[in-house]
Amino acid sequence: MNSPVIYYFDNNATTRVAPEVVEAMLPFLREYWGNPSSTYTFGRQLGSHLDEARARVAALINAEPREIVFTSCGTESNNSAIQSALATRPGKTHVVTTAVEHSANIKFGELLQKRGCTVTFLPVEPDGSLDPHRLEQSIRPDTAIVSVMWANNETGILFPVREIAEICHRHGVLFHTDAVQTPGKLKIDVRALEADFLSLSAHKLHAPKGIGLLYVKRRVKYQPYVVGGGQERGRRGGTENVANIVAFGRAAQLAMAHLLDEDTRVRALRDKLEDGILTGIPGTSRNGAKEPRLPNTSNIAFAGVEAEGILMLLDQAGICASSGSACTTGSLDPSHVLTAMGCSAARARGSIRFSLGIYNTEAEVDYVLKHLPGIIARLRASVPVEEMAPAKHPN
Ligand code: PLP
Repeated sequence: MNSPVIYYFDNNATTRVAPEVVEAMLPFLREYWGNPSSTYTFGRQLGSHLDEARARVAALINAEPREIVFTSCGTESNNSAIQSALATRPGKTHVVTTAVEHSANIKFGELLQKRGCTVTFLPVEPDGSLDPHRLEQSIRPDTAIVSVMWANNETGILFPVREIAEICHRHGVLFHTDAVQTPGKLKIDVRALEADFLSLSAHKLHAPKGIGLLYVKRRVKYQPYVVGGGQERGRRGGTENVANIVAFGRAAQLAMAHLLDEDTRVRALRDKLEDGILTGIPGTSRNGAKEPRLPNTSNIAFAGVEAEGILMLLDQAGICASSGSACTTGSLDPSHVLTAMGCSAARARGSIRFSLGIYNTEAEVDYVLKHLPGIIARLRASVPVEEMAPAKHPN
């Protein structure tokens, strides 16, 4: 595989594995490749490294190490939290989530509906925000759990998770938050948040894919989703992915160290990019509220053009961005997030997400701002004039 120069603006999809993280995990691929459950020293010695990594990820979210369950990914963590709530609360078969969650929740919710559960997919406001009062009204006597994301992966919009946790507990309902997009960008404190469950995924914080965690608050009943060996103190079967767990621990340390950089330098780069597009290219507008929002994410609608075309030409210029849409058999479905915010199908199909990260530089932002106007002009020149009505802002 050749590695051409890329301008990577898709950090909400995945992140580059940090060199420090690669360094930390390599010994566990090359030399210490034993099974931590083995009785002999070669395997058993890995236990202390697992403990160290567990302590590091726990510190990232202000949890106790024993409250951490390592999983394979954010999707598994979300699925596990919801199914555990249903399994440990007999007679409660109702789940509340939102219409803008990651497919890890949307698809799992649809599956639960087929299995006889009731799932409420709460609508959001045109600016992408969630009304906590509407959420409170959706809670019923048979509600087992409310599962709401902290930060939206497509728009970066933040939900008021602290307030939602408080509502849930007032009604005796468990609260799970999908915090997959937050590490390194927001300070995470599960104690202050009072979440019962919280999901993270390592590949969003400069560690490899295939490792995630579920925080399970002490004394909250938990029923494992993946059942097998007694790993993770009986809470998740499957031989531990030692190298990835070590990598996750190192990445957690780096994420804490990068909080300020994300909040200042990366935020400034995101704002420069967003302002540059909105002022420099006619017929553009932001999807969703300006704040409260992740410091790294910008979702922009381009009137009269299809995201597919923009992404193709960006790709030719070496720029990686995303439409936040599911690509099915060659045609782009409009994003379910933008659709739930009330965007027209045309607006949703002409929207692009730029998500920055700690490795982005100002020169890279300048490169995008230099190339994008020409790309949009070129695409607009190739579409009939009547399709070029200015983008309606959903607010
Ligand atoms: N939740 C959110 C908000 C995400 O952005 C993602 C990944 O894009 C996931 C869950 C799923 O994480 P994973 O890819 O580790 O399964």
